[in-house]
Amino acid sequence: MKKDRIGIFGGTFNPIHNGHLKAARLVQKKFSLDRILFIPSFIPPHKESGGIAPALDRLKMVELAVRGRSRFIASALEIRAKGKSYSILTLNRIKKLYPGAWVFFILGVDAFLEIETWREWQRVLDQCFFIVVTRPGYRLREVTKALGAAYRRRFRPVSRFEKIREQWFAQPRIFLLPIDAADISSTEVRRRVREGRPWQGCVPAAVEAYVRKRGLYQGQSARHRKLSWVSPTGKRRDAGPGTRR
Ligand code: ATP
Ligand code: MG
Repeated sequence: MKKDRIGIFGGTFNPIHNGHLKAARLVQKKFSLDRILFIPSFIPPHKESGGIAPALDRLKMVELAVRGRSRFIASALEIRAKGKSYSILTLNRIKKLYPGAWVFFILGVDAFLEIETWREWQRVLDQCFFIVVTRPGYRLREVTKALGAAYRRRFRPVSRFEKIREQWFAQPRIFLLPIDAADISSTEVRRRVREGRPWQGCVPAAVEAYVRKRGLYQGQSARHRKLSWVSPTGKRRDAGPGTRR
C-alpha cells in the first residue's frame, strides 16, 4: 500500500510570509508530499511582548495563508499543547495521527544549524526524514558540518532535476534541497510594518489585511527596538527566541 507522506513545517510564523509558502510549495512538489502541516510554536504569553504576536493571531495568519491549498494544513498542535514546543513531542503526536506515514521535517538552513539544542535531537533525526532547504544568507552545504562525523552519511544532497526515489526512504536521511528561496524573513516584515515601509508583497494579501486589522507589529518597546538593531553585515539580531527545542 502506498504510504502517506506528511511534512512538518514548524516555526514562530510571526508572521507567516511568502518565503515560507514558496519553500513549502517547492518541497511538496519535489517530494510529492500528501500534506504539509504548518505548526506555529507556542510561546508563553509573558514572552509575547517584544514583538511576538499572540499565538492565536499567528495561528490565524497561518490559516489565512493556507486557505484554498488542500495539501497545506494549519495545525494548532503545539499551541494547544501550550508547553514548550519540543520537536520530539510534536513528532510523536504526528506519528499517532498518521500511523505508518513517512514523516518529513522541513526546515531552512538557519533552523537546522540549531538542531543540537533540541531535546532528544538524535531521536528526532532517527525517527523521521529531514528536508533542509536553502535560506538566503546561508550555504546549504554548511549543515553537513553542523553534526559530528557519525552523521556524515545521512546527508543526501538532492539536485534540482533529480527524481526522488522511494528506496531512499529505507533509512533515516537528511535531504538537502537547493531551492530558489525568497529573501524574506518575519523579522524584516515586522521591521517594515513598524517603520511604515512597504511590505505588502512579502505576505499573502489576507495576512496583510489581518495584520492591519489587528494592528500587529506597529509598536515596540524601546528595549526591543534596541535588540532589533541590524549590524552593518546585515546579521539579524532579533531572529526571535529559539522556540523550537
Ligand atoms: P524570524 O525572522 O522571526 O526568525 P523567519 O522568517 O526566520 O522569522 P521562522 O518562523 O523563524 O521564520 O521560520 C520557520 C521555518 O521557515 C524555519 O525552518 C526557517 O528556516 C524557514 N524559513 C523562513 N523563511 C524562509 C525563507 N525565506 N526561505 C526558506 N525557508 C525559510
Ligand atoms: Mg527564524
